[in-house]
Amino acid sequence: MAKETVANLDWNHLGFEYHDLPYSFNEEFKDGQWQGGTLTESSTLTLSEAAEVLHYGQEVFEGLKAYRTKDGHINLFRPEENAKRLANSAKRMLMEPYPEDKFVEAVKQVVLANEEFVPPYGTGGSLYIRPFLIGTQPIVGVAPADTYTFHIYATPVGAYINGLAPSPYTVSNYDRAAGAGTGQAKTSGNYASSLLPEIEAKKAGFADCLYLDPREHKYIDEFSGANFFGITKDGQFVTPKSDSILPSITKKSLLVLADDLGLNPVERKIEIDKELDDFAEAGAMGTAAVISPVGSLTYKGQKHVFYSEKEVGPVTTKLYNILYGIQEGDLEDTHGWITHVK
Ligand SMILES: *Cc1c(COP(=O)(O)O)cnc(C)c1O
Repeated sequence: MAKETVANLDWNHLGFEYHDLPYSFNEEFKDGQWQGGTLTESSTLTLSEAAEVLHYGQEVFEGLKAYRTKDGHINLFRPEENAKRLANSAKRMLMEPYPEDKFVEAVKQVVLANEEFVPPYGTGGSLYIRPFLIGTQPIVGVAPADTYTFHIYATPVGAYINGLAPSPYTVSNYDRAAGAGTGQAKTSGNYASSLLPEIEAKKAGFADCLYLDPREHKYIDEFSGANFFGITKDGQFVTPKSDSILPSITKKSLLVLADDLGLNPVERKIEIDKELDDFAEAGAMGTAAVISPVGSLTYKGQKHVFYSEKEVGPVTTKLYNILYGIQEGDLEDTHGWITHVK
């Protein structure tokens, strides 16, 4: 397959798709140690037909973005948090964790090597970076692998959804992860199990579905790939506390910004039958979209509209502008979240 070229890209109309960029990063783990990582021009992996990842799903991944600033620098947002989370996910899946300091260095190398593909400031685009770790040992009887591949690819992406606009969501009858399962790990299996509910929700006209806690279906958990927040009518930022959701770095950051804004943020259980009408605004939080405003949530056949199905609420807008402003370098990084790649 031919490599992508800059001349072929329309910065203002990038989607969320794969482009085969010049450089990736690869490192193998074998004989009990990491073998040294390098940039590579190869964007294919060669695996045994019996590789652990293909049959027993030992895979964990991350997603982060590099942003071009107004003055031409390139920013990463809290990459050390992605490093830590990948290591935590790996531990849950009984995989060899990738060293956290090496993770950040490898991400920087990939961004710099593909620098011309970091979309220009002001286009809403960014360079999406996908680090992942897979078990590669050929294995038939179920056991953790003793060889692993850590790999990173990058691809330019546009604003996830065109601008900040509310979308309709529904509540799923399926679970994405089990109670005491792998919900806290960023692992491919959670996504495989959420494909069917997500596609069913989309066919029914929704942007995505919200999952409830898998034990009782009583409390709000999260979306397929984003955490949930609500702003109560008296102005509090509320987000679910649950052991079956993925700890979002966007969420972790918005909790801090909400506190700066005096929104008295709290992580607690949110009882869906009782609390939906208490929220004046709601949203989905994750790296891909930063915030996707939830215009409405259809639950048990009833549509609950939050701020408006057409317009984004003022608190959601403010939080989005501050977080995206810090990421793009337009606002001062008062919390020390930015790593300059250059
Ligand atoms: C990656 C992910 C998120 C968002 O996490 P961020 O660190 O904010 O990008 C939320 N939920 C799930 C299930 C995820 O996989």
